Amino acid sequence: MISTRYPQRVRNDLRFRELNVLRVERVSPGFQRIVLGGEALEGFSSRGFDDHVKVFFPAPGTTFVPPVVTDDGIDWGDGVRPQTRDYTPLYDEVNQELVLDFFVHDGGIASHWAVEANVGDRLTIGGPRGSLVVPEDYAWQLYVCDESGMPALRRRLESMAKQTVRPEIHAVVTVGDGSYKDYLAHLSDVNITWIVGHSEQAVSDHLATLTVPGEDYFIWLTGEGKVVKNLSRRFESDAIDLQLVRASAYWHAK
Ligand SMILES: Cc1cc2nc3c(=O)[nH]c(=O)nc-3n(C[C@H](O)[C@H](O)[C@H](O)COP(=O)(O)OP(=O)(O)OC[C@H]3O[C@@H](n4cnc5c(N)ncnc54)[C@H](O)[C@@H]3O)c2cc1C
Repeated sequence: MISTRYPQRVRNDLRFRELNVLRVERVSPGFQRIVLGGEALEGFSSRGFDDHVKVFFPAPGTTFVPPVVTDDGIDWGDGVRPQTRDYTPLYDEVNQELVLDFFVHDGGIASHWAVEANVGDRLTIGGPRGSLVVPEDYAWQLYVCDESGMPALRRRLESMAKQTVRPEIHAVVTVGDGSYKDYLAHLSDVNITWIVGHSEQAVSDHLATLTVPGEDYFIWLTGEGKVVKNLSRRFESDAIDLQLVRASAYWHAK
């Protein structure tokens, strides 16, 4: 009998960092990569593959004024609270560069910013405030996401590729266009089931073919809020330990 190992939460001091855009790259038809750097990255730590940083977008013509962080929370005072969006940090500690990969879609302040970004632009980020450190060696692992979760999945799979013992991994990725698969093309030895066209039913049908083992598993579901809620119901059963299931809305259809 294997004793259950649960993901562990770790906390970081909350810091706001104003960074410089070092490079802008279209890494796949669907993703605009922004490489950030600067002295403010000193001390940056991100231990969880699905960590997020808050990216701040002050109103045009205004600059970012950091809030006061107290034990009771974040106090923006009378200042105007800028718009924020969550992005997965892909941190290169050796070169002290922080990569954010933005899925390019219509109508988004963050997506639009990334498409228009130029070398030398400034971007303020906050966090990650905390991380969930998920052991990499659960024997059976399931990852379900759409484009918004692909950077976290990429980070996870790249990290696990360094392991000598390979768990059984099932990744189910739904994309709006087949060309977006490019983003994970270098991970071709991973068992990825692609669903082109964002069909919740097709994802659900595929999940129905999988059998979660009785122990030593981890399940990660992200994507559009309602879709995640519907899909995660499948795993709400007495047979499944909810501490080994992580279901998070990454965005909401409006
Ligand atoms: C923990 C976490 C990590 C995340 N990491 C990443 C990441 O690394 N890369 C990434 O691209 N996204 C990531 N996301 C998702 C991202 O935060 C949202 O997609 C966000 O809403 C995008 O902001 P926006 O300003 O571009 O669009 P918004 O202004 O929020 O929305 C504009 C319109 O676009 C729609 N929309 C928003 N997101 C999407 C989408 N992904 N696909 C299709 N339509 C969308 C909205 O419904 C709305 O109609 C992450 C989310 C979380 C919670």
